[in-house]
Amino acid sequence: MIAELIARGDLPPYLILFFVIIGIGMVLFAVSQRKAFNATLQRVAGKMDGTFVPGGLFSEPSLEFRFEGRSARVEFWTGSKNSPQYSKVVVGISGVSPGVLHILEDGFGQSFLKLFGAQDLEIGDPDFDRDYVIKATPSGLAKRLFSPDLQREGIRVVRRLRGFISPTFDVDVQAVTVMVRQYLRDERDLVKLIDCARDFTAFVLRKSESGEVVLGEVRVATGGACPVCGTPMTTGTVRCELCRTPHHPECWQYMGRCSTYACAGKRSVA
Ligand SMILES: [Zn+2]
Ligand SMILES: [Zn+2]
Repeated sequence: MIAELIARGDLPPYLILFFVIIGIGMVLFAVSQRKAFNATLQRVAGKMDGTFVPGGLFSEPSLEFRFEGRSARVEFWTGSKNSPQYSKVVVGISGVSPGVLHILEDGFGQSFLKLFGAQDLEIGDPDFDRDYVIKATPSGLAKRLFSPDLQREGIRVVRRLRGFISPTFDVDVQAVTVMVRQYLRDERDLVKLIDCARDFTAFVLRKSESGEVVLGEVRVATGGACPVCGTPMTTGTVRCELCRTPHHPECWQYMGRCSTYACAGKRSVA
């Protein structure tokens, strides 16, 4: 309707001025929000010994860390029609990944979970088994990681993100990803997420008492298997528009972007 008025030249000058002022106000607000967020990220980077990577006009800012010699990245996504917003920490563990493991709060990610069939892993802690869904390939991985003597530590780390929106803990052959479905702007929340991701990575890659990596030799066969869930792919896969790696559509949606470590692909093609 406004466009029509403009096209006909009927829009009164005071209204044009009004819209221009509103427009400028919105831009200034967005700029000040971005500035405040960048300042928050810089403080978090300083506090936790990381590097702040400013975003561009069309890209989000990020943070980079080293967790025990492994590179880690904190990424944000404001959300789009097909992928909800998120904040995530991705830690590269290529070559030492114990397999594929996913921990989700009960009730989240139903279509993604169907890929694992009837598998319902329990670690033997009734409260934890009630509140969380655990999926793994190989399926014995969950029990081995959450062995009775060490599971208290794992449970404590996972439960720290209780209260965030749909937190998930994902391990695949290349990375550990700890993600919440919200755009974290608060400094304390960010520190909590990063701390939790660091401790979860340490838990997954922890050394046994004898000093050996407990699960180092277990490998998920990558030939023909989806990089996210570790189960076979048949028809109807989607590919990353940048690196062409095939994924299940459900797995792509669940991760919100390409699962190839350090690939920036955010869109999939058939
Ligand atoms: Zn998959
Ligand atoms: Zn990719």
